[in-house]
Amino acid sequence: MHNLFNTLKTFDPGGGRQGSFYSLPALEEAGVGPVSQLPVSIRLVLESVLRNCDGKRVSEAAVRALANWKPTETRTEEIPFVVARIVLQDFTGVPLLVDLAAMRSAVQKLGKNPKIIEPLVPVDLVVDHSVQVDFAGTADAMQKNLEMEFRRNRERYQFLKWGMQAFDTFKVVPPGIGIVHQVNLEYLAKGVLSSPDPRPQTPDPIYYPDTLVGTDSHTTMINGIGIVGWGVGGIEAEAGMLGQPVYFLTPDVVGVHLTGALREGATATDLALTVTEMLRKARVVGKFVEFFGPGAAALPVVDRATIANMAPEYGATMGFFPIDAECVNYLRATGRSEELCLAYENYYRAQGLFGMPKKGDIDYSQELELNLGTVVPSVAGPKRPQDRIELPNMKKSFVGAFSKPVAENGFGMKADGFATARVEVPLNGHGKSTIGHGSVLIAAITSCTNTSNPSVMLAAGLLAKKAVERGLSVNPVVKTSLAPGSRVVTDYLNKTGLQPYLDQLGFNLVGYGCTTCIGNSGPLAAPIEDAIVKNNLVAASVLSGNRNFEARVHQNIKANFLMSPPLVVAFALAGRVDIDLNTEPLGTGRDGQPVLLKDLWPTLQEIRDLMQAALQPDVFRKLYQNFAAQNPKWNEIPSSTGNVYEWDRQSTYIQEPPFFNRFSMQPGSIAEIKGARTLAIFGDSVTTDHISPAGSIKKTSPAGKYLIENGVTAKDFNSYGSRRGNDRVMTRGTFANVRIKNLMVPGVEGGVTICHSQTKGSVGYAVDSSTGKPGGGNVANSPSVYFHSGKDDATQMSIYDAAIEYAKTKTPLMVIAGQEYGTGSSRDWAAKGTNLLGVKAVVAQSFERIHRSNLVGMGVLPLQFKDGTTAQSLKLDGTETYDIVGLDENLKPQQDLTLKITRQDGTVDEVPVRCRIDTPIEIDYYQHGGILPYVLRQLVAKA
Ligand code: SF4
Repeated sequence: MHNLFNTLKTFDPGGGRQGSFYSLPALEEAGVGPVSQLPVSIRLVLESVLRNCDGKRVSEAAVRALANWKPTETRTEEIPFVVARIVLQDFTGVPLLVDLAAMRSAVQKLGKNPKIIEPLVPVDLVVDHSVQVDFAGTADAMQKNLEMEFRRNRERYQFLKWGMQAFDTFKVVPPGIGIVHQVNLEYLAKGVLSSPDPRPQTPDPIYYPDTLVGTDSHTTMINGIGIVGWGVGGIEAEAGMLGQPVYFLTPDVVGVHLTGALREGATATDLALTVTEMLRKARVVGKFVEFFGPGAAALPVVDRATIANMAPEYGATMGFFPIDAECVNYLRATGRSEELCLAYENYYRAQGLFGMPKKGDIDYSQELELNLGTVVPSVAGPKRPQDRIELPNMKKSFVGAFSKPVAENGFGMKADGFATARVEVPLNGHGKSTIGHGSVLIAAITSCTNTSNPSVMLAAGLLAKKAVERGLSVNPVVKTSLAPGSRVVTDYLNKTGLQPYLDQLGFNLVGYGCTTCIGNSGPLAAPIEDAIVKNNLVAASVLSGNRNFEARVHQNIKANFLMSPPLVVAFALAGRVDIDLNTEPLGTGRDGQPVLLKDLWPTLQEIRDLMQAALQPDVFRKLYQNFAAQNPKWNEIPSSTGNVYEWDRQSTYIQEPPFFNRFSMQPGSIAEIKGARTLAIFGDSVTTDHISPAGSIKKTSPAGKYLIENGVTAKDFNSYGSRRGNDRVMTRGTFANVRIKNLMVPGVEGGVTICHSQTKGSVGYAVDSSTGKPGGGNVANSPSVYFHSGKDDATQMSIYDAAIEYAKTKTPLMVIAGQEYGTGSSRDWAAKGTNLLGVKAVVAQSFERIHRSNLVGMGVLPLQFKDGTTAQSLKLDGTETYDIVGLDENLKPQQDLTLKITRQDGTVDEVPVRCRIDTPIEIDYYQHGGILPYVLRQLVAKA
């Protein structure tokens, strides 16, 4: 405990108690900086920097620098941010636990105590990503999906149970409870935290803000209740839990001044889609966004959380709402203790941080205006969340997209084929139906984004009720599902009597988890899938999620529209997306009259009348306790014991990763890369899902073949996401998305490339000798010399097979890409797989924030073309070899390097590229071959 600048003060946390805290007003009084004018989000980070100032990890200079944050200046300083806790979901959490287990094994091999690897901050993992919609539209769908989930994931869940007993601060919320961000909002988040004061004779606890990082992009949802937190890659989260600060470049903070109120008919989802479109245009990538003003103050926390959830979609690091009385109301309504609510309010009052800022209170880098009264019912799609469409324009927009070129986010189909493609499909026991372009085949009320918000969930229920009362029904070709992010939703949909109406339309409960939002939409009926594929139909999904990239929702559904839960119900009723819901009926009522959307749309007052049922503190307390007792299936899973995991070489789910093979205490050196080949050349907006898909595994893919060779039948493949504990599957799955387009193989979709094999080899490092695979160990930094000679045979093959071929000649590899490389969900396997394929550098026009840092965290060099330079302008086709010149021990953040391109005819071009290792600590990570070896060396050296 320090008392730097005399900032260690006491305050009254309520009830006659006393607590200590590091006071931001005292920091300002000490003349360190104009703290009270800083954005609230910056002040919360500043508190962490001040409290954790130890002269080593966090310096006094870092406190001074952040206290003097300026709205506009060149950003060069990195902030060392020590977070209070970490949240994980299972897709990212299992591999993270695998890495921790591998670190323990490595420490044991070095003859040290494996317990030196231990999370220093509380870690909560919520198992939410594994449930799939195999069953839907029936009363027992939820139970059957849960059973299937446990059957498929038993090995992973056993492993999680080992982790729970091996690590002191690692807790698991088992399957069937909810979605990580909703569980965080409703239960895990405390708003203010306290720890015992380590000083002798000081019985009072020390209080500090609840801050976190999570291994899921939508961790930002917690910004809706004034908590600083965002998504990071699994490798950064591991470093965070092992006591390393999360480093990030000092951000600009964009203030969004909200005024007015939502009008009748507009929902929080419409607002979130409007904000997404507006902030994408404002280019907030890598910035903090802070909402303020009277409109923000009037929004309930659940609406704020919906907007905050979509920060990754607008590109911001956070979408933050400051702390005010509404936050305290929400904490009370969700069953948090009175003691906590008092401490929360009093703490932030003592920090001068309580209350929604007004215009002029804070100096932002940029201010934007939004009048909530201008928000209208909207959807977003068919391919990107920022492409908002006002509801009346939906038909025109979809029909237009149908024949637009793919490069303009269209489907590149012939316009005259739109109306003619009608295909008859048999229905399981229900006769026949017809589908065509624009048919809605998936309608999912899904995702924490919206299911955390009772106003839109109640609206969906009310709309269903009115539809049923008018005699409408949903065509059985539409796969309907309801997957809330917590059991509280079921409680209030039952109490309000709305669930039976949703059931009648097929929106039966299918589980409490991510489901369709993460792509676990499950199979469609076989004749329907056949009809789509054979007739190349542009069929549609409608979902209340936040992402709609190609192949995210379902491999064969090309058009995906994000919308509010009531609109999901409406489009399910309509059965098609080429419809103007303002003028065309959803169907015909039992009275023979057409039923329009406006006939069914609930009023704000109808929703308000039911809201009381949704926020009952006792319900939250009852449902968020003793999870194990409420989950017999979880209890049945056996757990192994011990501090070091006993790896099972037969497992196809959990394998010891090769990251610490040949680990030594000496880091490598930084050296030039020579004679590299391109594994792939991509266009713009390649997502992490393209790079490392989460969804289903094809039988004919390298990963599918590997699983079959290891005795797994196709029906038990499960998804890539669930197999992230096995590097053998994940390396084979890297760049294996069925929709990825490698421009080296024009016109072909899927993970293929042209391999230019050499008849003579070279000297280098790309193979992990212990596994016989490319990659592994500290591959990025070994000194190396490469040469190529002899005949160049160009062969088309899978990207994985090509990597194996190149590994035989120890050829370093590169990937070349366009704008926004690595956009989409944070996914550390997108960087890990890249590393394990032997890729040494990715050259892109621009990078998504987390993916760039993950690449560095795995020892892969991110390089950025200078403005105007692209693979196309350089006429690259994959036949070239490359040297990266200027890379040496003196590397500086964002230094310019030279990309030397040697073409097949022997001509050479040299182009400048910016090294996107952005901070000094990242240079250390790169030199060490990534964060994990860096942290491991630090911990072993201290032990
Ligand atoms: S519901 Fe969607 S946004 Fe929420 S955690 Fe799951 S995948 Fe992420």
